[in-house]
Amino acid sequence: MARPKNVKHIFVTGGVISSLGKGILSASLGLLLKSRGLRVAIQKYDPYINVDPGTMSPYQHGEVYVTDDGAETDLDLGHYERFLDEPTSQACNLTMGRVYKSVIDKERRGEYLGGTVQVVPHVIDEIKEKMGDLAKNGSFDVLITEIGGTIGDIESLPFLEAMRQLKLELGEHNLLNIHLTFVPYIKAASELKTKPTQHSVKMLLETGIQPDILVCRSEKPLSREIKNKVGHFCNVHDLDVIGLNDCDTIYEVPLMLLKEQLDLRVMKKLGLKKFREPNMEYWKNFCEKVKHPKDGEITIGICGKYTEYPDAYKSIIESFIHAGASNDVRVSVKMLRAEDAEDPKFDISSAFKGISGLLVAPGFGDRGIEGKVRFVQYARENNIPFFGICLGMQCATIEFARNICDLPDANSTEFNKRARFPVIDLMEHQKKVKEKGGTMRLGSYPCILKEGSRAHEVYGKFLINERHRHRYEFNNQFRKLFEEKGMIFSGTSPNGDLVEIVELKNHCWFVAVQFHPELKSRVQKVHPLFDGFVHAAKEFAQGKRQLSLEVEMPRLSSTEMENAG
Ligand code: GLN
Repeated sequence: MARPKNVKHIFVTGGVISSLGKGILSASLGLLLKSRGLRVAIQKYDPYINVDPGTMSPYQHGEVYVTDDGAETDLDLGHYERFLDEPTSQACNLTMGRVYKSVIDKERRGEYLGGTVQVVPHVIDEIKEKMGDLAKNGSFDVLITEIGGTIGDIESLPFLEAMRQLKLELGEHNLLNIHLTFVPYIKAASELKTKPTQHSVKMLLETGIQPDILVCRSEKPLSREIKNKVGHFCNVHDLDVIGLNDCDTIYEVPLMLLKEQLDLRVMKKLGLKKFREPNMEYWKNFCEKVKHPKDGEITIGICGKYTEYPDAYKSIIESFIHAGASNDVRVSVKMLRAEDAEDPKFDISSAFKGISGLLVAPGFGDRGIEGKVRFVQYARENNIPFFGICLGMQCATIEFARNICDLPDANSTEFNKRARFPVIDLMEHQKKVKEKGGTMRLGSYPCILKEGSRAHEVYGKFLINERHRHRYEFNNQFRKLFEEKGMIFSGTSPNGDLVEIVELKNHCWFVAVQFHPELKSRVQKVHPLFDGFVHAAKEFAQGKRQLSLEVEMPRLSSTEMENAG
């Protein structure tokens, strides 16, 4: 186990403007260091007062990323997992709210022994203790910490102060700061401008922090001259001014940083001597497939209610990029506003024009539900590949209940408490839950797959583990009827109680899951369900799937039967 002293810290801060991609930078650097043989962990510090982002609207915060241990976290943790293929956990996402909560809890327990509890030292000490915790408990060489927000924000000051103090305590070879800034290109002058970066570094200096490395985002490549200028005014070596110009896909960022030798500069400064040459062949091929797929483009419709804000579906969109690469197609995503389909005059068939597959997205609340149900119905009746995730699965069962099982107005009790046919209902253990934060069915749960099902075909095994985030589930009172009418319950909890996957037999690809497979797709390990769905959509686009209603299901080998117990 690594002692805290042995762990090297890298803090990533951002300046000038937000949305420069600190998360992608952190994940990319982590990947490069990992491929040089180092053990890397990444975490995110968020300056807001929410204890976690679980209670925030996707409009405010984008997707909530759920870890195996059931933490509701920032979407940047998704980038970390997708790039590094290392699981994150609750310990990897600290919010200022969580820091304050533990300080206030300690105060209530009398742990400050009559003292006045203040930001300095108590809040700062709490942050430093938490910084130490992850380093103490993990077995890794490098801990990358991304600090949310932009330098100059009042709210992130305690994190910066804690970082400053930690550097003093650990020594400069054990902690470095990478500051990500923006170098705008001014068309009228045909010039890249370094002044905003200079100002941002000045502001960082006001907090007592001299950045060790500057990564400069820009529309155009940074010339040696510009790098020298930035280095000169910001007091860093020009080799430590790293250019990061816009690229076609975020997955090219590690390759660009490798070229700029960011990893080597970091290792030199942290005294990390032993390393191997990174092997980025797989990554390069992946980027090539993303940029120039051999088999053209297909379009998948994503039906949801946050359509104008794609960050709400971040992991789903990234999973389609992974699955596109593995199927040699570009997956273009068309957002379908569920509410639009609630208007009886809405022409659903024209909404499906050019679409080779429909995904109904996760979500909460009744807005757009009837529209989603209509979209599912169209995909089912017209044999268009369909994939439902969480709320998407619940909508698929509502649709099946109403249109196949003759249960008029069947619904989820989330949308109609007095539904005559509550095919989706609150889980038993949720009935007494009053608090909203962190109380859903969260995190990784095992699921057993049915032999010969589509799910079993794509996963190629019987026991899977997937991550959840929901309060409602399929109501078992309706299981028998649904089965009689042709729905297959192809995945359940190991004791059979909870329905986790449903699918339809007489359809080219109709699979809906109660969990969130998008949280487990990786560049190097595309998720089997996304892979299978994109494969089906590609065949649909090529006209191969439309008529093949009866699908051959695989038979199991004897070892598989044994493993299934
Ligand atoms: N609102 C539904 C539930 O709580 C679905 C949640 C989701 O899609 N993540 O069960």
